[in-house]
Amino acid sequence: MIDLHAHSTVSDGLLSPAELVMHAANSGVRVLALTDHDDISGLAEARVAAAEHDIALVNGVEISVTWKKRTLHIVGLKVNPEDAALKSGLASVRLGRIERARQMSLGLEKVGIHGAFEAASSFAENSILTRMHFARFLVEKQYAKDAKSVFKKYLVKGKPGYVDHEWMSLESAINLIRNSGGVAVLAHPGRYDIKRTNMLLLLEEFRALGGEAIEVVTGSHTAAHYVEFAKYAQLFGLKASQGSDYHGHGISFMGMGRLPALPSQCVPVWLDWPEAQLLSVADNLIN
Ligand code: AMP
Ligand code: MN
Ligand code: MN
Ligand code: MN
Repeated sequence: MIDLHAHSTVSDGLLSPAELVMHAANSGVRVLALTDHDDISGLAEARVAAAEHDIALVNGVEISVTWKKRTLHIVGLKVNPEDAALKSGLASVRLGRIERARQMSLGLEKVGIHGAFEAASSFAENSILTRMHFARFLVEKQYAKDAKSVFKKYLVKGKPGYVDHEWMSLESAINLIRNSGGVAVLAHPGRYDIKRTNMLLLLEEFRALGGEAIEVVTGSHTAAHYVEFAKYAQLFGLKASQGSDYHGHGISFMGMGRLPALPSQCVPVWLDWPEAQLLSVADNLIN
C-alpha cells in the first residue's frame, strides 16, 4: 500500500513523525509521504523511523496557497528538505499563521467563546497553528460534537472563527516544489468549492505552471469524486496520486492502509519511482 499524504504533530496531526511511521507500518503501508502543512521539519525524524520499520519514506509537504481568493493545498512529493529557497518560502507562509489565529480568536470572542488563541496554541505546542487546533479546543469545550461539525459551525467562511488569509501564490508553491526536485500535486480537488468552469481553469493553470498530478483517491473524496477526478486527470494529462490525509485517530476521514485502488485509467504519480518497487505484485492487486 502506498500512502502519499499524512500529517504529524509538526502540523495538525496527533502522532509524532516517528509514531506516524510506526502506525503506517502496522497498517500495511510500505511507501509513505509525510506531508505536514507548510513545514518539513518532521522529515528527519520520520526518515530514521522509516529505516527501522522497512518503510520507504517520501519527503513531502502540503503548502497552503491562495488562488482567486480561495485556499488550495498543493502537496509537494520528493522535495529536498535541505533546499534553502523551500525552507525560507515555507517559513514565510508559517509567519502569517499567528496573526491569523489572533484574528480567529477575536471572532470567537464576539460569540462569547473566550481564550481560544491560548487554548489552540497549547494544543499546537511548538507546531504551526491551524484551524484544527481551534477545532480541538471547541470540541473539548463541547461547542460541537466533533471536528467536522465544529468546522461547519465556527471555522469555515462566514462563521465567527473564520478569517480570510493570503497564503502563497500557486505559482510560487509549484516553483518552490519543482526547484527543489519535487513533484507538485493538487491536493483533494473535490474539497474546494469550485464549479466546473473554474475547475477547468485551475487545472489548466496548474498544469501550465508545472503541476504534474492531482489527488484522485484521498480521505476527503467520495467514491463519486474518484471517478470525477480520474476523468479530469485524463483530460489534462495529469498523473494521479493517492493518500489518506491521515491526521490521527478520531480526527481523520480515513484510516491508513485502507485506500481503494486508483481508477484503472489513471497514471500513478509513483509509476517510475524506485520506492514503488517495494510494493509487491500482490500488494498492488489488493491495493
Ligand atoms: P488551516 O491550514 O489552519 O486552515 O487548517 C486547515 C486544516 O483543518 C486542514 O488541513 C484540515 O486538517 C482541517 N479541516 C479543514 N476543513 C475541515 C473540515 N470541514 N472538517 C474537518 N477538518 C477540516
Ligand atoms: Mn490538516
Ligand atoms: Mn489539505
Ligand atoms: Mn493534508
